[in-house]
Amino acid sequence: MTSRKGLQLAGVLKQEGITNEAVMATIASVPREIFLPAALAHKAYENIALPIGQGQTISQPYIVAKMTELLLSGIGPAAKVLEVGTGSGYQTSILAKIFAQVCSVERIKALQFQAKRRLNQLDLHNVKLKHGDGWQGWASKSPFDGIIVTAAAANIPEQLINQLADGGRLIIPVGGKQQQLLCIDKQNGNLSNTVIEVVNFVPLVAGDII
Ligand code: SAH
Repeated sequence: MTSRKGLQLAGVLKQEGITNEAVMATIASVPREIFLPAALAHKAYENIALPIGQGQTISQPYIVAKMTELLLSGIGPAAKVLEVGTGSGYQTSILAKIFAQVCSVERIKALQFQAKRRLNQLDLHNVKLKHGDGWQGWASKSPFDGIIVTAAAANIPEQLINQLADGGRLIIPVGGKQQQLLCIDKQNGNLSNTVIEVVNFVPLVAGDII
């Protein structure tokens, strides 16, 4: 249900350079407050990242919109998409409203559990969630037309390249404290790499899931 505050946020994103109308309409229609701790709900429609507990953050709406429009322009809405880093489930909900099928992997069980409840609350049933290590992707559901990584990787995870369909697109922040957002296209087995902009994500953690 689109709200006045949602429309205002979409307007801010347009000023920031987002151009895809479907993406802006989707951002306007998702109640971001349900993805936040109650004490931060009053900040839900500000264009900022916010803490969601466990040392993690819900992404800034601008970056959610930017990554989603990059994916959509590359692969279209009929696509099957993998998200790495479910977190609050906010980006997942935007993807679920735009793409045919969404799979999302999260390493922190407590976050995955909350995200699942929120996605059900929004009646988004084209999403499959997994508690696992995103460095490994989700092999049994691959190949994916699109992959979006919402945490910063030290390097490009090999499994994600393997699980990307031919003609597919991977959007991933790569680097240390500050990262470059990369858009990687696979065409006839070849990869082409475009740098989009400098971004600030929490790290894509390697090792045990919790
Ligand atoms: N898309 C989320 C962003 C959450 S922040 C949102 O809109 O809220 C990034 C998330 O990536 C965190 O929840 C973190 O726990 C998760 N993450 C970090 N390393 C991971 C890994 N190796 N595998 C899966 N998830 C990981």
